Amino acid sequence: MTGDVFDPEQLSRCISCGFCLPACPTYALTGDEASSPRGRITLMRALQDGVLPPDDATLAEQASSCLGCRACEPVCPAGVEYGSLLEQWRVHQWRGRRRPVLARLLMLFAERRRLLRLLGLLRRAAAGASPSAEVPTSAPPADGAPDAAGVQLLLGCFERGLFPEVSRAAQVLDPALTAPAVQGCCGALHAHNGDLAGGERMAHRLGAELPGTIVTTSGGCAAHLAAVLGRDRVRELSQWLTGRAPAGELRVDGRRARVTLQDSCHLRNGLGVYAEPRALLRSVAHYVELPSAATCCGAAGTYSLLRPRESRRILAAKIDEIEAAGVDLVVTVNPGCLRQLRTGLRRRRSTVRAVHLAELLVRVTPPSG
Ligand code: SF4
Ligand code: SF4
Repeated sequence: MTGDVFDPEQLSRCISCGFCLPACPTYALTGDEASSPRGRITLMRALQDGVLPPDDATLAEQASSCLGCRACEPVCPAGVEYGSLLEQWRVHQWRGRRRPVLARLLMLFAERRRLLRLLGLLRRAAAGASPSAEVPTSAPPADGAPDAAGVQLLLGCFERGLFPEVSRAAQVLDPALTAPAVQGCCGALHAHNGDLAGGERMAHRLGAELPGTIVTTSGGCAAHLAAVLGRDRVRELSQWLTGRAPAGELRVDGRRARVTLQDSCHLRNGLGVYAEPRALLRSVAHYVELPSAATCCGAAGTYSLLRPRESRRILAAKIDEIEAAGVDLVVTVNPGCLRQLRTGLRRRRSTVRAVHLAELLVRVTPPSG
């Protein structure tokens, strides 16, 4: 018996009803029960009970092929916390050297701020942007003690390197958001890739570096931080700006812009935040709902790198829908989705542009007169 991989109470909740199957993108891709939430929970039970050996090939494949999007959670009548079970599964499945090399590399980057800074400089140089286009940060207090609890902007480990314009836009929208220079990674990447203890440790450290309310432009970071530090400590940007959309509208070609939203899976399925970004968008543009807005775009943290073929298939269907919607812009609330959609739209030579919600809101033109 393996016995102690999963919290037995969490694992026992599933009643095998199958309500989650239609919500699961990997089940939609394969039609295979093993690739569904119910099928994966059956595999978890087989691992826990010693029915399958720990090195079983199906276990390894299904722990890896799950997007971790948690679309199976809101539809589950039994309250199965699938995201938590997947984290526990990967601690076992990806222990030690079994963790995919790419995931290990990304985790290393997330821990080493200098590497991320270098990555950002290279990206901006490749894009012809100013290498100094970084986010203005505040210096730590002279005595090294944490600043008085206030509202602090989380710059995000990869976002700080790859999309600093998103944090700059957030600061324009709310100048009260201070961004302390010394802030690490929230640990979501670690928690989702087999290092749950490391991911929780990093979240606590970040919580100490950013006392008070933490505002983040990343739905994934918001969900992980809220799970570790508590919901009262964390606000995703659309929550933070609720009721405070800039006055005016976004115009494209002399008319009100047509925009759509791609949900952040963890923000929607983990924190239940999806109405807030839509309300902000509706107040400044013509909003079009995508039929699959709540379904993963295939980015899913490390998934697009570890499972590129499946990720591209999921993305292709998403890009088809975005193009059919006749929109000018597709808006994201998570840097991974932003990178994924920009890649897909560029490959398709689409005229639709992907932007973060913060970037869209700063482009709103005030009403004339
Ligand atoms: S995870 Fe929930 S919805 Fe899916 S089979 Fe189990 S109880 Fe039913
Ligand atoms: S997390 Fe997403 S991909 Fe994984 S089982 Fe649940 S719905 Fe399917």
